[in-house]
Amino acid sequence: MTGEKQTLTNAAGVPVPSNEVSKSAGKRGPLLLEDYTLLEKMAHFNRERIPERVVRAVGSGVYGTFTVTDEITHLTKAKLFSEVGKETEVFVRFSTVAKSKGGSDIYRDLRGFAIKFYTEDGNWDLVGNNTPIFFVRDPMKFMDFIRSQKEHPQQHWRQDEMWWDFWSLVPESLHQVLWLMGDRGAPMGWRHMNGYGSHTFSLINADSERIWVKFHFKTNQSIKNFTEEQWMHLQGIEPRWATKDLYNAIDQGNYPSWTMYIQTMTDEQAKNFPWNPFDLTKVWPHDDYPLQRVGRLELNRNPENYFAEVEQAAFSPGNVVPGISWSPDRMLQARIMSYADTHRHRLGVNYDTIPVNAPHATEVNTPYREGMADRIELNEPDYADQARLFYQMLSPEEKDRLVHNIAGSLGKCMEAIQKRQIGLFREVDEELADRVAAATGAVQPPQPEPQPAAV
Ligand code: NDP
Repeated sequence: MTGEKQTLTNAAGVPVPSNEVSKSAGKRGPLLLEDYTLLEKMAHFNRERIPERVVRAVGSGVYGTFTVTDEITHLTKAKLFSEVGKETEVFVRFSTVAKSKGGSDIYRDLRGFAIKFYTEDGNWDLVGNNTPIFFVRDPMKFMDFIRSQKEHPQQHWRQDEMWWDFWSLVPESLHQVLWLMGDRGAPMGWRHMNGYGSHTFSLINADSERIWVKFHFKTNQSIKNFTEEQWMHLQGIEPRWATKDLYNAIDQGNYPSWTMYIQTMTDEQAKNFPWNPFDLTKVWPHDDYPLQRVGRLELNRNPENYFAEVEQAAFSPGNVVPGISWSPDRMLQARIMSYADTHRHRLGVNYDTIPVNAPHATEVNTPYREGMADRIELNEPDYADQARLFYQMLSPEEKDRLVHNIAGSLGKCMEAIQKRQIGLFREVDEELADRVAAATGAVQPPQPEPQPAAV
C-alpha cells in the first residue's frame, strides 16, 4: 500500500461519480435507470456467488514449494523430479468432505489434501486425502455414500443413522470407518495431519518402463488430534479454527511442511499381491513396500483473495504430466472424468484459465480455438483415384456405353471445354481420354454465338 488516495472505479475502470448516493429525478423523485454505477454494483452483488462444491465445500488454500530431496529419475521422467534440489511451485487446498459452505472445519470427517504442482510440463494435480484409503472401491456407490453424509432430504440435517445405514450395508467401508472413528478422524487443523494420494498411480521413466506407486506426505509438525469434547466445544466458538490456524502460521513465517514418500510395486509384485493392489479400501503394508523419501513440501504464502484463489481453485485427477499416470483403480478412473465435469458446471468451461488453475511454469497452447476463419479448400489431389477404380471395374460393354454417352453430350460443347474435360479424363485413365477424344471429334462442336453489333 502506497498510502496514496486511489480513485474508485467501476469494473471497466471508469471513475464512479458516487459510491453512496444514487441518481434520482429531483430531490424526492424516483431513481433513474441510467444510473449505471448503481446497476453494476447491484447486479454484481446479486450474481457474484457461484455454486458450492458438491463435496469439500469448506476449506482453505495456500501456496508453497515442493523441493526434491532424493533421486527418483530411474522411476520417472517427470520434470519436477529431474534433480535433487529442484523446486516447483504448488497450491494446496485442505478441506472437509460433507458439510456445506459455511460449516465448521474441525468436526469428525475425512480431510481433503489436494496439491497442484505447477510443473514445466503443465499442472499435476494430486487430489488426495488425509487417509490412504476410502469408504468405497467402486464409483457406482460414491454418490450414494455422499448422499448419506449430507442433509436428510426431508428433514435437512445430517443424521448419524444415514451414515450407519450406508456403512452397515457396505462392508468394504469397514477399514475407513474404523480410521474415521479413531483418533485421526478429528485432526487438529490442517497442519498436524498426513496427506496421501490414496489411489495407486504409475510412474514412467525415460525408457517407458512403468512402476505402480502410492504417494505419502507425512507432517513435520507431528500428528495432533482433537478429542471429541474439544472439537465439539471449539466448533461452536471458532468454526473456522483450521483455516485460521493455517493462515496465522504462514502469516507469522511459521511455514508448515511435509515429507513426501513413495511406495512402489512392480507389475510382477502386483500380479502376486494377495488382493487387488488397485483397491482403494486397502493399503500396501509398509513392511512389504517400504516408504522411500522423495521430497519436501513447504507451505509459505497465503492467497491475496479467498474467492479468486481458493473458492475458484479447481483440481482434477485427470491432470497428470509425462512420467506420472493413472492405474486401473476404479475410483480413480471415475474421478478422472468427474472433477473436470463439476468444475465446468461450477466455474464455467474456462475454469482452467483462472490464474490459480492455469499453468504457471509453462504456456497453454490448446487446440480448442482454431486459427483465423477463412474459405480454405481441402486441396487434396485425390479426385481421380476413385474415378479410376470405378472406370477400371466396368465391363468393355459398359465402357463403350459410357464413352458413347459422354461423347454425345461433351461433343456439343466448345472445343476449349472439351479439351479441359478430356484433360481430366486423362488423369483417370489414358484409354478413357483417348476414346472420348476420338468420339467427340466425330461430333461437330457448336459454333460461337454471333456477338450483337455495337451501337
Ligand atoms: P505400519 O505399522 O507399518 O504403519 C502404521 C501406519 O498407521 C503408520 O503410517 C501410522 O502413521 C499410521 N497410524 C498410526 N495410528 C493411526 C491412527 N490412529 N489412525 C490412522 N493411521 C494411524 O502398518 P501397515 O503399513 O502394515 O498398515 C497397518 C494399518 O495402518 C493399515 O491397515 C492402515 O489402516 C494404517 N495405515 C497404513 C498406511 C500404509 O500406507 N501402509 C498409511 C497410514 C495408515 P504415522 O507413521 O504417521 O504415525
